[in-house]
Amino acid sequence: MSRTVYVNGEFVAEENAKISVFDRGFLFADSVYEVSSVLDGQLIDNEGHLKRLHRSLTELGMRAPASDADIVSAQVELLKRNNLQEGAIYLQATRGTAERDFAIPKDSTPGLVMFTQEKNLRNPPQVKNGISVVSVPDIRWKRRDIKTTGLLAQSMAKQSAADAGADDAWMVEEGYVTEGSSNNAFIVDASGKIITRHLGNEILPGITRSAVLALVKSDNIALEERPFTVAEAKVAQEAFITSATTFVWPVTSIDGTSIGDGKPGPIATRLREVYLQTALGRSA
Ligand code: PMP
Repeated sequence: MSRTVYVNGEFVAEENAKISVFDRGFLFADSVYEVSSVLDGQLIDNEGHLKRLHRSLTELGMRAPASDADIVSAQVELLKRNNLQEGAIYLQATRGTAERDFAIPKDSTPGLVMFTQEKNLRNPPQVKNGISVVSVPDIRWKRRDIKTTGLLAQSMAKQSAADAGADDAWMVEEGYVTEGSSNNAFIVDASGKIITRHLGNEILPGITRSAVLALVKSDNIALEERPFTVAEAKVAQEAFITSATTFVWPVTSIDGTSIGDGKPGPIATRLREVYLQTALGRSA
């Protein structure tokens, strides 16, 4: 059975979901996106994702394709039509169609596309086994804080990881880890302090990162927001990643070196559990 997809106000079968070849999202990656996870049929941290959507739109001078209330009701309807209990909802806002020209059109009508994906979020094998990462150079542009669909560098990073037999890539710039190919990166040092890169133009301000850091602070776990090196990560007690569709996944090896005892660490494991409890509470 085919999925129902949302395209500019209409719910259509996925084979009929089409946009113009002149859409600037297609021609210039002139579009932004958000992914919210779904557990028990409920959107997780969706408010934060919509807030970041507006930030991305503002940074690019793009009008919102619909009001938040209309976006949320379309999301809820899409979940219902696809009977999605566990997985993700992808949302993309594009500048819309215009004659191909580098200059940004002032009068284009923004577009909105959404679709669902079923995923095993609660108990994927990565939670029990941890993931392996390899370091790769960060070859992205300088506004990584904007969540655009210009994702080729991240795709290439992820493919390099797969080619090396690893699960994911951590991108490195000037000797410091920026973030994972589609997630934020954390280490726990020998003293038990959590270290993750500070926000700035160099990384995406992860919604899950922010929720997890709020838990870290309320738990009085020591935290330092600063860049760290791959060498520091290799001698860390623990390492982990956060993102909407992984929540918290332990990282158990970096460039072939085991982290700690090579097993998922207690801090990452606990943060995952507490994040899930709190996020489900928020969505109810
Ligand atoms: N960094 C990058 C580069 C990402 O692509 C993502 C996920 N899209 C994240 C971090 C995590 O963000 P979030 O927690 O909002 O999913």
